[in-house]
Amino acid sequence: MNNFTYVRATTVKDAVNRAVADQNAMFIGGGTNLVDLLKAFVKEPSQLIDISRLQMQKIEKMANGSLRLGALVTNTAVADHADIRRNYPILTRAILSGASQQIRNIATVGGNLLQKTRCPYYYDPAFPCNKRQPGTGCPAATGINRMHAILGASDQCVAVHPSDMCVALTALDAVVEVAGPQDKRQIPFVDFHRLPENTPQKDSNLAPGELITSVILPPLAFAKSGVYLKLRDRTSYSFALISVAAAVEIVDDKIKDVRLAMGGVAHKPWRATAAEKFLIGKSADISTFTQAANIALEAAQPLADNGYKVELTKRAIRRALTVSAQGGGIA
Ligand code: SF4
Repeated sequence: MNNFTYVRATTVKDAVNRAVADQNAMFIGGGTNLVDLLKAFVKEPSQLIDISRLQMQKIEKMANGSLRLGALVTNTAVADHADIRRNYPILTRAILSGASQQIRNIATVGGNLLQKTRCPYYYDPAFPCNKRQPGTGCPAATGINRMHAILGASDQCVAVHPSDMCVALTALDAVVEVAGPQDKRQIPFVDFHRLPENTPQKDSNLAPGELITSVILPPLAFAKSGVYLKLRDRTSYSFALISVAAAVEIVDDKIKDVRLAMGGVAHKPWRATAAEKFLIGKSADISTFTQAANIALEAAQPLADNGYKVELTKRAIRRALTVSAQGGGIA
């Protein structure tokens, strides 16, 4: 691990000012991903700005019925919150399907959004990697790519975003609140993460110095029937091969509204907007869900080792939509 300085930020403004003054500084909250990256020499910040004592540790109800999750609320606290368990079961199930209880007890909302891909080449400085060091190449594109992207990749990077929680937040129309050197702003969740294109080193649309302060969950009545289905190599403590977050609202035997997002398929959580549009007004049956799954995967471009993800994701979409249409529960 390289030498770095450590400071404890006293306020959000203090944290942002310090990050603006030192562009090679990094914020640290729970540190569950960052410490691994430091130990592996993947990240070599000049300074760690400890934000863990800042006042961003509450879940608050807002006047319009939304919930505001402070950026430092732990994953465990989000998953266990009574309103979230009742009204946004997609989010509770997504969080509980990720990591271990010990990690969830310390990992934070903000940190979950900013965790790095688990592409093994990224974590091994013996290999080139465009995300770690732009312009060096992407060994995963022609190497071992069983876990990699089937949608939205570029010739620069084929990594996937590893978060379960972010797939749920994408489906739930969440909004990210950030504080920057000039002002605060809100970013719709679907616009928070990026596709790799020619800048795979950038995972999000945060500007330099910006700090995530909270995530807003808007009210969405039919999210109560939401489903999160994660498929992986083993049943615990494993990243998704693919995952699906789905919520369907049925009125008079027709689909009135729907949310559908996928994980483990792209550099960002993938909202299936074309499939959602197709589903509106249709009968909630297996034929409709099969067509929606085909639309969601229409643009898939699998690599040498991950063609299985296309059919696996289609089947997971059918299953998640079916269970949600029946009222929700464990898929
Ligand atoms: Fe690096 Fe992305 Fe290629 Fe993995 S997929 S080796 S993270 S550039």
